[in-house]
Amino acid sequence: MSSGGLLTSTMLNTTGLELSGEVAEKLKGKVLDVVIIGGGPAGLNAAIYAARFGLSTVIITEEVGGQVGKAGWVEDYLGYVRITGPDLVNKFEEHVRYYNVPVLIDSVEKVTANGDLFKVTTISGDEFISRTVIIAVGEKRRKLNVPGEDKYNGKGVSYCAPCDAPLFKNKVVAVVGGGDSAASSALLLTEYATKVYLIHRRNSLRAQPIYQDLLLKNSKITILWNTVVKELKGDKVLKSAIIQRVDSGESMELPIDGIFIEIGAEPPVEFFKAIGLDLDKNGYINVNNMMETSVKGIYAAGDCVSLTPRGFRQIITAAAQGALAAYSAYNYILTKYGQNREK
Ligand code: NAP
Repeated sequence: MSSGGLLTSTMLNTTGLELSGEVAEKLKGKVLDVVIIGGGPAGLNAAIYAARFGLSTVIITEEVGGQVGKAGWVEDYLGYVRITGPDLVNKFEEHVRYYNVPVLIDSVEKVTANGDLFKVTTISGDEFISRTVIIAVGEKRRKLNVPGEDKYNGKGVSYCAPCDAPLFKNKVVAVVGGGDSAASSALLLTEYATKVYLIHRRNSLRAQPIYQDLLLKNSKITILWNTVVKELKGDKVLKSAIIQRVDSGESMELPIDGIFIEIGAEPPVEFFKAIGLDLDKNGYINVNNMMETSVKGIYAAGDCVSLTPRGFRQIITAAAQGALAAYSAYNYILTKYGQNREK
């Protein structure tokens, strides 16, 4: 799947050092047990379980951590009362490295059947042959698609509060969205900005009640209900947003130094369709409760699957699905190829 992310082929090893392309070459000559596509909590946890089951594996991902790395405060992952998204990703990465699972930073272009095996081809042109595949690619983040969004991307427009919040110390910012991502980002931003507007298109939030309480109690946050962004304006950097009330149609110009777009995400449907996976009506991969897809030998986990209730895609549920997917791949391989398969 390609979303225009990092396209360089880089290997990381347990020491965090980049390995040469030669190592990738060595891996490519082999028939791997499982190729894991995606490096969010589902993919990373699948890798830990796959390694513990003795499966030869590689993770191919555009970035390690996925959406977790862009989360503000995470307060509902078991074992951590309060941790930032990037810090939690570091913990995940440390865990994966302990099991020596190679991580290839690349984008997967296609997955094709190769007899009973699968061929996974990256955008960089690398090919991997595997007995099974676990798809844990998550979703693609939505854009507002308003004038100025692309022009000011990186110049006031951000899609990652933990990455960019410190740049807005003593500034005025806005967050767009009404879900957990918008809420956690707005709360994180209050630690830096003097004022945070939360712009939401409806009159009630989708975010969890605990976030709603925190938002309403925070004196730095003003929620602009029933409001949408029509345009982003500035000179070299962002200076303001043209916003409009959806009920009255009234427009105004809101002076801001930064805007964080946190309006959710959607699955990469075309990539899934090309593999021949059965999808639900919204484009998410249909799986059973063992994470088996409609294609034998291909499993899916995390935000890209239909099983996950909409509006309740949690780090812990993605991780759990990753574990199940690895377990299913292990059972399939053991039954079909046995313990003495080539590794
Ligand atoms: P989400 O739950 O899908 O919420 C997206 C929000 O953006 C909704 O409020 C939606 O409005 C709004 N929106 C969508 N398209 C829009 C558009 N074009 N213009 C303006 N507003 C738009 O997405 P999310 O907040 O990224 O969360 C995704 C999943 O991750 C959820 O399951 C969430 O629980 C989970 N998550 C959890 C945490 C945590 O701390 N536990 C943190 C982050 C995310 P409507 O409400 O009107 O649809």
